[in-house]
Amino acid sequence: MSMEILVLGGGYVGVWSARRIVRSLRGRDDARVTLVSLSDAHAFHGWTAEVLTGHVGVERAFTPLADLLPGVRLVRGAVARVDLQTRGVDVLTDAGVRTLRYDRLVIGVGSRDAHERVPGLREHGWSLKNDGALVALDAHLAEVAARAASVVDPAERARLLTVVVAGAGFTGVEASAAVAQRLRAEIAAHPPLAGVAPRVVLVGSGRELLPTLRPRFDGVADYAAEQVRQTGVEVRVGTRLAAVSADGARLDDGDVVASATVISTVGQAPVALPGTEGLLRDGAGRLLTNRFLQVLPGVWAGGDVAAVPKPFGGTCPTSALWAIHHGLRIGGNVVRSLRGRRQLPFRFPGLGQGASFGVGRGAAELYGVSLTGWPAWLARWFFFHWFMPSRAVAWRTARDWLGRRSPASGADYSRWPVTPRKRMKTAIQPKMSANAMISSAVSEK
Ligand SMILES: Cc1cc2nc3c(=O)[nH]c(=O)nc-3n(C[C@H](O)[C@H](O)[C@H](O)COP(=O)(O)OP(=O)(O)OC[C@H]3O[C@@H](n4cnc5c(N)ncnc54)[C@H](O)[C@@H]3O)c2cc1C
Repeated sequence: MSMEILVLGGGYVGVWSARRIVRSLRGRDDARVTLVSLSDAHAFHGWTAEVLTGHVGVERAFTPLADLLPGVRLVRGAVARVDLQTRGVDVLTDAGVRTLRYDRLVIGVGSRDAHERVPGLREHGWSLKNDGALVALDAHLAEVAARAASVVDPAERARLLTVVVAGAGFTGVEASAAVAQRLRAEIAAHPPLAGVAPRVVLVGSGRELLPTLRPRFDGVADYAAEQVRQTGVEVRVGTRLAAVSADGARLDDGDVVASATVISTVGQAPVALPGTEGLLRDGAGRLLTNRFLQVLPGVWAGGDVAAVPKPFGGTCPTSALWAIHHGLRIGGNVVRSLRGRRQLPFRFPGLGQGASFGVGRGAAELYGVSLTGWPAWLARWFFFHWFMPSRAVAWRTARDWLGRRSPASGADYSRWPVTPRKRMKTAIQPKMSANAMISSAVSEK
């Protein structure tokens, strides 16, 4: 009987592990790889800021899994239950519940927005995590500027053009600068708004921005903070987002910011699959793995859902780069287990971290070396293309940079046959509605 290898999640862990398994097993017809995912596209989050400023078309962030994973059976649906005793997984699909049997299981379902932690965030806030969120936010920013142009009440106009971004990590600082640039471009496109400035407030609970860079890379973090301020972002550290309403954000220092757009980049929680309650977890709820990324014999986990020991002590951070390397090691170990070979430990030592605030304005730490300005921007640009899931899409993304100029720079797009936003609608929206249906079925948001 054929061995069934079941991969849960179509993100970094899922794609990189399934690809490695299929490539290693090429020619064997006694093993089958099945991948289950809520979405039928892989979401690349690295270009979130560039999508908001228009440097990269939003369609570049989503690559169909069918293109990435030839030879893998794809099942679109939500995992409803994992039975670790009988080795079966119930999946809620469009056609009803399907039970998939497995001999080897890979858990790579990532993290979700923990909206429940901030009152009102689910109803009135925005996140950047779900596939549909970035598409919707992109359209929303254009819409608030258009509405502001037709409003006469100055207070309402200011509210429409005010954005609050919660989270002082890489995602938050990049997003706040990108939103400020984007809103300025939208304002420039509406003559009634001439002379009006947007207000973007970045809220962080720590004492300073980018805590993961400090104190070792203080210079890089300080440069990044300066770039954020130069972009016109108002930085509020030492305070948290306490509640969100239709009118704006309330901070835990009591201040209320009237705003039509509150974006949260904090409060991610690992996805907890029903049936896995008995597995060991860390304080954040991540599945504890051994150094071979196993949670049980025949079951591996990696990425945001797992607490994986780093080769030289500590636990791997939750980032795409680590998830990719988890996926590669898991894929190798799954194949080794089928061949009766010993498991290999996870040995990736890390590479670095980086952010961009506009072309030539980067801040990065690479192999322990601090980089700012052009070197940091170029290093990040190169590595992000390198780690995109498809060479073809990476090449098209690189061409976006060479062939287009950002709407945030006020460039005229009319000479292009298809603008990024038009492409977005045709490429992404049909998928989004299907995905939204499944997402709401499991209340992931
Ligand atoms: C806005 C944003 C920007 C980021 N920028 C960067 C960056 O610049 N650099 C970086 O290194 N990292 C970045 N990250 C973090 C990075 O995206 C994550 O660490 C990475 O996605 C984790 O990979 P993963 O495979 O564990 O999970 P994911 O990539 O999130 O994949 C999880 C998969 O599981 C599926 N899934 C979830 N629940 C279920 C279910 N119940 N049933 C079936 N399928 C399910 C999802 O559909 C998805 O396919 C960013 C994250 C965000 C949100």
